[in-house]
Amino acid sequence: MGNSFLLEFNVSDRFYLCRYCQNHLALCKDFSLNYSPATGVTGGVFDEVVNVHVNELEKLRQLGPHTVADVYCNKCENLLGWKFIEVYEEDPVARKDMVMLQMGKLQERYGNQIEEAVEPRANAATRVPIVKEI
Ligand SMILES: [Zn+2]
Repeated sequence: MGNSFLLEFNVSDRFYLCRYCQNHLALCKDFSLNYSPATGVTGGVFDEVVNVHVNELEKLRQLGPHTVADVYCNKCENLLGWKFIEVYEEDPVARKDMVMLQMGKLQERYGNQIEEAVEPRANAATRVPIVKEI
């Protein structure tokens, strides 16, 4: 399934991994936005995603008003997100060929640390500070 060659990021970079097989997927700096289409399914959109593939001819389906194809990990074949094939023009965010990954299927690696993936920046402003009662 085309998994003979997998790109690897430099370990000094902060990046996202497939949580099932630790395949390298996207650099944290390429995280573009947190997208939630009409269906309410939320994912992270990246400027560049590597080591994934789609089955565009077989797997086209509707996600809200858009036509998408499922995106799979090149190493373990798990479903990771969607690629937008045809977008509904009135959506200000969606664009053709945009890849959205479900954050719940990713892990974040920085140096030797691996953590559950969270959306950087986008959610930071809405995070409620924890106030300790004395
Ligand atoms: Zn994988």
